[in-house]
Amino acid sequence: MSDEETVVFENVTCKAATSKAILCMGPWEDREIWFPLSQVDDDSEVFEKGHQGKLVVSKWIAEQKELEGTVVSKKSKPKKKNGPSADKKITEKTGTCEECGKPCKPQFRTCWDCRED
Ligand SMILES: [Zn+2]
Repeated sequence: MSDEETVVFENVTCKAATSKAILCMGPWEDREIWFPLSQVDDDSEVFEKGHQGKLVVSKWIAEQKELEGTVVSKKSKPKKKNGPSADKKITEKTGTCEECGKPCKPQFRTCWDCRED
């Protein structure tokens, strides 16, 4: 799809599907609407018969069907982060040596270098 804007509808149920289009019930009025699959976004949770959830379609088709949903600009979408998040990093507790200021184990007041014994 070349369009940068999509429209999101929540609580949509796909009632029927062909190889080219899906028939959906949604938060719009009491009617079922066909959406060409070419206008259904990759992010859509609904794209096959029986699917239920978030339907994401091109802004163009939403306008054609006179549907009002949440318009989402694909450019402004935050990228999904993969890998461990920063807060999961194990931070080792460290103390500071009273003699030289170097990091040392928190249970000791001085580091190994400064310790007399
Ligand atoms: Zn020290």
